[in-house]
Amino acid sequence: MKSDKIKPYLFENWHIKSWKDFDLLQQPNYLNSSLLLETLSTLRCANKIVTENEINQLKYFFSEAEKGNIFILQAGDCAETFESCSFEDVKLRVEHILSLAKKLEEAIEKKVIVVGRIAGQYAKPRSEPFETLNHFSLPAFRGDIINGIEFNEIQRQPDPLRLLKAYENSKKTYDWIKEITNHIFFISHEALLLDYESNLTHKTTYSDQWINFSAHTLWLGERTRDLKSAHVEYLRGISNPIGIKLGPNANYHEIISLLKLLNPQNISGKINLITRFGNKNNNLNLENMIHFLNHSGLCFSWSCDPMHGNSYKTNNGFKTRNFDDIISELIETHKIHNKLGSFLSGIHLELTYKNVTECIGGYKNKLNEYNLSENFQSFCDPRLNKQQSLDLIELFSLKRNL
Ligand code: PEP
Ligand code: MN
Repeated sequence: MKSDKIKPYLFENWHIKSWKDFDLLQQPNYLNSSLLLETLSTLRCANKIVTENEINQLKYFFSEAEKGNIFILQAGDCAETFESCSFEDVKLRVEHILSLAKKLEEAIEKKVIVVGRIAGQYAKPRSEPFETLNHFSLPAFRGDIINGIEFNEIQRQPDPLRLLKAYENSKKTYDWIKEITNHIFFISHEALLLDYESNLTHKTTYSDQWINFSAHTLWLGERTRDLKSAHVEYLRGISNPIGIKLGPNANYHEIISLLKLLNPQNISGKINLITRFGNKNNNLNLENMIHFLNHSGLCFSWSCDPMHGNSYKTNNGFKTRNFDDIISELIETHKIHNKLGSFLSGIHLELTYKNVTECIGGYKNKLNEYNLSENFQSFCDPRLNKQQSLDLIELFSLKRNL
């Protein structure tokens, strides 16, 4: 629904469904609306996945990150699949991310907090709502929580029952994570599918706050952070800490308005800004933005996602990223912060424990364009493989002080 009348600060009256009156971006079109309603009421009664205490703990860590006392490693798959929801796979994913965190912690001599893109990262934003193959168009694949990847009419139709499957898998996954490790391991996903997010959001009886109990933290994507978007409206009402992706076209003044909307009381530990400008972008833009926002008097921490600004298509048709671009954006971002008397408090990565061939380059074991077809598994964005992710942490540790 278009909402040109909406003026941000006039909207004090948030409620759990107020997002429906704003611009609905990136939402699927369900044909079976009675099944959707039935499914949503089941979700509304479902058990919580995370606890309020854990969320408050992460908020405290985010506020420490703001002061430079701790570092955040947010990492995992671009999108999880229902198929990969097994104890063994979750164990391998978690162990790999924890091993990266340990390596990083030793190198930077700072506590590293781990936030997985896991236990709920099932929805994907798309640039095009339809996909066309041989002159035949079907709804684009939007992640396992919405439809199936197979290119046929049945699979591509958004299916409300997938919402329940995604919830059950997320619950199982986080329960396994708690079994696997004694480490504090937080879970996160993009706040994208608002029917899902809002039905797992509940008001606490004693603190009188609305909390999304499906993850400790959620992030607002680059494509949905418009001030009039339903996503912003939904997120401004919940008390979980929130990540905000910022690409090279971010307008500083709009970001200030966004921060005031999402964190009107300017609470420390509430917002993590995640820049994803791309290595080819003019560093001056990033520098100006950091400088401008750091002088706004608003509270937030800075992370860098060196993945999403560096995707491109190879001549042989693979969506890939070059390791050199990834490490370079990360180091440059770190240096820009240092130069401005600011500091980088986190890294946001797409990676896997598997030996996939999705990103080009590397440090110890370089891949080229022709290697991509050997083991390209991602149906979404290309991930750093096991060795590339270890290399990235090693190079970041080595180069950041040079
Ligand atoms: C993502 O994190 O997978 C993603 C789509 O990111 P962005 O919104 O920054 O493009
Ligand atoms: Mn991605």
